[in-house]
Amino acid sequence: MYAQIIVDITATEVDKLFTYRVPDGMSLTPGLRVTVPFGPRTIYGMVISTSETTTVEESKLKDVLSVVDDMPVVLPEIMDLCFFMREKYRTTMAAALRAVLPAQVRSGKIRPLTRFAVRLTADAEAATKKCSRSQKQQEIVELLKNEPQGLKISRIPMDGAMQVVRAMEKKGIAEIFPMQVRRVPYERLEESLQTFTLTEGQRNAVEQIGASFDGDMKSFLLHGVTGSGKTEVYMHAVREVLLRGKGAILLVPEIALTPQMVMWFRNRFGDTAAVLHSGLSQGEKFDEWQRIRDGDARVVIGARSAVFAPVENLGLIIIDEEHEQTYKSENNPCYDAREVALERCRLQRATLVLGSATPSMETYARALKGYHVLLEMNERATGRPLPEVEIVDMRQEIVAGNRSMFSVALKEAIQETLLKHQQVVLFHNRRGHSSFVKCRACGFTVHCPHCDVTMTYHSYDDTLKCHYCGTIMQPPKTCPVCDSPYIRRFGVGTQQIEEKLKEEFPGVTTVRLDLDTTANKDALVELLTRFRKGDAQVMIGTQMIAKGHDFPNVTLVGVIAADMTLNLPDYRSEERTFQLLTQVEGRAGRGLFPGRVVVQTYEPDHYAIELAAKQDYRAFYEKEINRRRRRLYPPYTVMLRILLTGREESDVRAAAEVIEMQINAFFDSTPNRKRQKIQVHAMEAPLGRLRDEYRWQVFIKLYAKESDEALDYIVECAKENEQPGVRVETELDPVSFM
Ligand code: ADP
Ligand code: ZN
Ligand code: ZN
Repeated sequence: MYAQIIVDITATEVDKLFTYRVPDGMSLTPGLRVTVPFGPRTIYGMVISTSETTTVEESKLKDVLSVVDDMPVVLPEIMDLCFFMREKYRTTMAAALRAVLPAQVRSGKIRPLTRFAVRLTADAEAATKKCSRSQKQQEIVELLKNEPQGLKISRIPMDGAMQVVRAMEKKGIAEIFPMQVRRVPYERLEESLQTFTLTEGQRNAVEQIGASFDGDMKSFLLHGVTGSGKTEVYMHAVREVLLRGKGAILLVPEIALTPQMVMWFRNRFGDTAAVLHSGLSQGEKFDEWQRIRDGDARVVIGARSAVFAPVENLGLIIIDEEHEQTYKSENNPCYDAREVALERCRLQRATLVLGSATPSMETYARALKGYHVLLEMNERATGRPLPEVEIVDMRQEIVAGNRSMFSVALKEAIQETLLKHQQVVLFHNRRGHSSFVKCRACGFTVHCPHCDVTMTYHSYDDTLKCHYCGTIMQPPKTCPVCDSPYIRRFGVGTQQIEEKLKEEFPGVTTVRLDLDTTANKDALVELLTRFRKGDAQVMIGTQMIAKGHDFPNVTLVGVIAADMTLNLPDYRSEERTFQLLTQVEGRAGRGLFPGRVVVQTYEPDHYAIELAAKQDYRAFYEKEINRRRRRLYPPYTVMLRILLTGREESDVRAAAEVIEMQINAFFDSTPNRKRQKIQVHAMEAPLGRLRDEYRWQVFIKLYAKESDEALDYIVECAKENEQPGVRVETELDPVSFM
């Protein structure tokens, strides 16, 4: 026998199958890890296939040394996903295999999961006689009478059961043995299903999703306004799929931010639910993964990488808040969990559900084209109206002499809410802090004349730069529109907001959630819990508070500066602003009392802000997709960035310019190719220096159609220009343009 093996080295040169001889007495199946000799070393490898014959010369063959696991760690369909990622994300098989296995699993040994169990060795009558003097032993005999296969000791409803069982073993009437854990039966499902009467929208969604389980692969976009009860739809869909004997995966943007979701799933699905959580200990993670691999857990909740969870007979993948950027990995392989989920569902004929109140442009466009079935839920499940949103023009505040970061309207609203003993959320997006220049008097921001994006301020050389085309200019000393001298770098921090709030409202109790206060995940959960319990009146936070939370007593949401995300050097900043505002507005009035939102902005007429205030997703979509079409942005085009980093600026820059030249030459070589190209530009990256390394980028925009050959060339070209001292990475549709 021979085995074809991928060795655990991520370099491109060894990204191929190596054939090894399988020694007598060793049995291998695909998905098993082994150790093999490789040059002078012994390394890990993954069995991809086995064969009876080989074309490789006998003298060149080496033996597989040992088998690492008792059972395959990579299921056949996950193996297929790895091949898919190798192609799609232009990575190596070894890197793809690493991505699908959690680090804890990679460093451990996988065995079938066992628990101690006990069974009778004597017949029941004899056993009863032998333990006539111990009531506890007799009780256990009674239990075991009906369990000829044995019973897990943890299932015996008795304190100190282990000791009693040990005594019975000594008497020779029972034996303790390791029992392989079997999947948990679905007995708890029915009783623990909480009973909301589903709204019409929910019922329709559950019915359509449920009907898809028996047919071919289907995908849905569940577009429901904030508070429409998407979670309830997920839980019903999961239950339906479990009842058909299949498993499910639920992806959430960040599991630490969704303790409620986890709790609900645990309550309803008990041990059948596994959580893949970055906050778990190494051992716990390993155990959860193994529970899934053993078929003990059939529902998995987790972040991005849970899309690879080894759920056999998978029937459903749900991606909650599908528009979130966290679904894209920024490390090799730079996969997009949504694309991987789609492929996995296709391979396993499973159902895909993408849920969001603010779907991404790409997903909604695909739904309108019929690739996803569109399910709409336009009303809140509680019957409450969406909150009333008031836009405050901060330019007017300045004119009226109010230089505070709180408008008069917001101050009054806070006052009222506190008097009613209801809670307030103050939202402030710090991303983009100080990175652009804005006129405080008229709201003017400096835009690139060619690209429709904000110019970014670089403090180290005091210039404004366009990150798309490289245009450079000096920051204006006075506003070119209104001549005001109050044109400057823009931004305040959450800490400042908290201080000012305490000045304005002495005695107010607050919790602040930002990167400083939530460096560890426990702190975050604790702060959220404190606020939920009502221990603080006001929560101040960055985008991490915008998502998913359900705080019934919050009736006022204040947005300190809605424009913060609008002025990032990114073609998606309008979309992100709309999404963030809609989500954060959705935190208000989810309980008994109606909600109210005050949005402060310097650009009250901007469509992203106006339409978020109206919570009109469809109108925003139409407007934005037209702009994308006009400006040749995705989904109409493909964007790539080749990022070069190194200690010597001249080397980094030279390499970037060579790549730019070569790629341009490639496109110019035939007129046919030239039509795919929109732009290729080498320039300094927005973040020009990071940890003492210089950063340059080649920014490339192509027509999406048939650009595969071009993509291959670009990736190759980038790789070839890598050199000692200059690292080169290619990112397709980069998450960040910094
Ligand atoms: P979304 O995720 O769509 O923003 P949630 O799933 O958080 O909304 O649900 C919002 C609130 O509505 C939750 O408090 C939930 O318990 C409640 N809810 C969900 N479904 C129903 C229903 N059918 N009837 C009454 N309340 C419901
Ligand atoms: Zn001005
Ligand atoms: Zn430009």
